[in-house]
Amino acid sequence: MASTFRLEIATPERPLLNKEVSEAQIPAETGYLGILPDHAPLLAELGNGLLRYKTGGKEESLIVHEGFIEVLPNHVRILATAAENVSDIDVKRAEAAYERALERLTINVDDVDKARAKRALERAESRLSAIKSVH
Ligand code: ATP
Repeated sequence: MASTFRLEIATPERPLLNKEVSEAQIPAETGYLGILPDHAPLLAELGNGLLRYKTGGKEESLIVHEGFIEVLPNHVRILATAAENVSDIDVKRAEAAYERALERLTINVDDVDKARAKRALERAESRLSAIKSVH
């Protein structure tokens, strides 16, 4: 039985992580997926939030926003629409995105794409709560 598996995380912009890890907690659309070595293969939608993993006995984390999760024998691939290290999150930018999305959701005009505003609000909320939970 393997003791680690490869965790790869990329966005359309850049590769973000490619490491041997011993476990990972991944925010799927339907709730957190806990992955250990030799997990059964599956495909799932990625949600928003903190993705935690253990490597070399240390717990690390980064934040991901929507996309796909592919679990293969001892290889997990995540393609996220956006992702960043928590230390790279710009709080002011996330707060501004939050206010902007909230305003778009509450004003009553026809040309606002509410579903898009809701997703932007969720990204901003998960960035702001990631900062709180890590510090
Ligand atoms: P904004 O409206 O501020 O651009 P957004 O939620 O629309 O926010 P995304 O489309 O999720 O932004 O991300 C675009 C790029 O900007 C990605 O590379 C993402 O990692 C980065 N990014 C977005 N918001 C932040 C932030 N608050 N801090 C650091 N990087 C961010």
